[in-house]
Parts: sequence; C-alpha cells; structure tokens
Amino acid sequence: MIRKLFIYGARSQKSQSLIPALEASAADAGIKIAKNPEDADMAVCVGGDGTLLRMLREYGFPELPIAGINTGHLGFFQEFSAGEADRIVGLLNEGGLSIQRHRLIEASARTSGGERRFMALNDIVVRRNASGIVHLRLSVDGSTVEQFSGDGLVISSPAGSTAYNYSVGGSIVDPRTELLQIAPIAPMNTASYRSLSSGIIVPPGCDLVVAPEGRYLGKALIVADGNTNPVEDFEGLSVRLSEKAVNVVRRADYDFWGKVRDKFDL
Ligand code: NAP
Ligand code: MN
Repeated sequence: MIRKLFIYGARSQKSQSLIPALEASAADAGIKIAKNPEDADMAVCVGGDGTLLRMLREYGFPELPIAGINTGHLGFFQEFSAGEADRIVGLLNEGGLSIQRHRLIEASARTSGGERRFMALNDIVVRRNASGIVHLRLSVDGSTVEQFSGDGLVISSPAGSTAYNYSVGGSIVDPRTELLQIAPIAPMNTASYRSLSSGIIVPPGCDLVVAPEGRYLGKALIVADGNTNPVEDFEGLSVRLSEKAVNVVRRADYDFWGKVRDKFDL
C-alpha cells in the first residue's frame, strides 16, 4: 500500500496536463502527495526517458520505486501510457507489479585539483570537447586494452544500451545482466592510429580506467546521462557499476525484447 506519492512531470503541456488527475486519484485513494522523493514510498514520473533522467539527477538518484508514464518518444523506462494515467494509482496500489533494478554507473575523475564524482543511469561519455579528437588509454584491471583515437568513448549500463550506445553501433543488452559496455565514437583506424572498431564488455567489479594520452592530458568533457561537465587538468576516469540502483516499476508481464521490437519498429 502506498501512503505517500511523489509526482514529477516534464515541463511539456502534455505531461503537465496529466498531473491534476493523478493527484485527484491519489487523494481519492487516501494517498498523500510528498514534496520530494525522500518523503515518499513511490514516485510517478510523467514524461520521456529524459524526464526520468532529469528527476534522478535533481533528487540525487533516489532508490524508491518509480512508475513512468510515457509522453516522450521511446519510453524505455516509462512503463505506462498516457491513457493509463487515471488508473495508475489504482494499479500501483493493487500490487502485482514488478520492480526492475538498474545498477547505476559511478565514475571518479582524477584531476590535479582532486577528485570529481559522477553518477549515471544510462551512460558516461568521455570526449575532448564538442568537436576535437581525443587519445584515450583504455585499461581493464591494470592491463591496457587499447590506445583509442577518435571522438570519444561511451560507457553504458545495460539500461543505457538502447540510448547513445546503440547509435554508435553498440549492442543492446538484456537488463537482467550486469555489465559495462565501452563503445567507441568514430574510432580512427589509419597507419598512425589503431583503435578497436567495436565496443568491449566487462563484468561488474572490474577496474575500468580511461586516461588521456600525451598532449591530450588536461581538458575533457565528462557527459553523464547527457549532462556535460568540463573537467580541467583531467588525468583519468575510473568507472564501475555502483551498488546503488534505480528501481523502475514494471507490469507483471514486462517483456524487454518485445519493447525493443516495438520501439525500434522491427
Ligand atoms: P535528449 O537529447 O533529449 O534525447 C535523447 C534521446 O534518447 C531521447 O529520444 C530519449 O527518449 C532517448 N533515451 C534516453 N534514454 C534512453 C534509453 N535508456 N533507451 C532508449 N532511449 C533513450 O536527451 P535525454 O532525453 O536527456 O537523454 C539523455 C541520453 O541521450 C543520454 O544518456 C544518451 O544516451 C543519449 N544521447 C544519444 C545520442 C545519440 O543517440 N546520438 C547523443 C547524445 C546523447 P525520450 O524522448 O523518451 O526522452
Ligand atoms: Mn529527451
């Protein structure tokens, strides 16, 4: 039984228009509206996948169950449709739903000025700037895999595998697995530069490091779920799957691969 519900909506007219009905059906069921996720035992997020990402960042990646109502494009995280908005509180209160746990990506950048930490649900991207090439040494458990040259690397979780990772040719990953995928963005392969042209996949718990090479020491952009952070005096980034997770509410008959088929129009 839900006692306190947190409702978050995208700014769009379509998303905002669903919120009064949600609040009314919560009131009818004797459920209070919480001002932030900390005080709630369930959240409803109205918008696209990007809205869920924004809510998570705004509230420090809360671990309460989040039910998404999709008003965006793909809706990989958003389990319910806009048409279900007036029934959602009942559905959530009845139970019979399942919770999908997505471990977050946790990264720590070493700089001459200290450490900077990043969290993401989908992906962490390392690049030089908006347009320049970057040379990055990618290592796993202390062993160098490659000296990458190109636009950058996308390090994604299984949940993020259908986002940027997919656009750069990475594999779609079943969310029941736990792993990190490192996919290249425009890898260079010439007589002078040899980069892997495919991604690599590593298990959780391994020591993954992306470090700038030679004259590329210094500046980098670390992009966490689409949020761009310029990092000065960048020396390297350690990335791992976090023990922290996001809990997404799913229907009992949730079918990831069916969603892939439908959303990519296969
Ligand atoms: P955005 O620039 O507004 O849109 C990115 C698109 O990716 C939206 O259509 C979004 O869906 C969709 N998306 C987000 N997470 C997804 C997931 N896990 N699986 C499938 N599709 C997903 O940015 P945003 O909405 O804040 O999303 C941030 C994400 O954008 C980043 O984490 C990165 O993965 C992705 N991105 C992709 C590219 C690319 O494909 N070339 C480039 C940069 C960033 P909604 O419409 O439902 O929000
Ligand atoms: Mn978006």
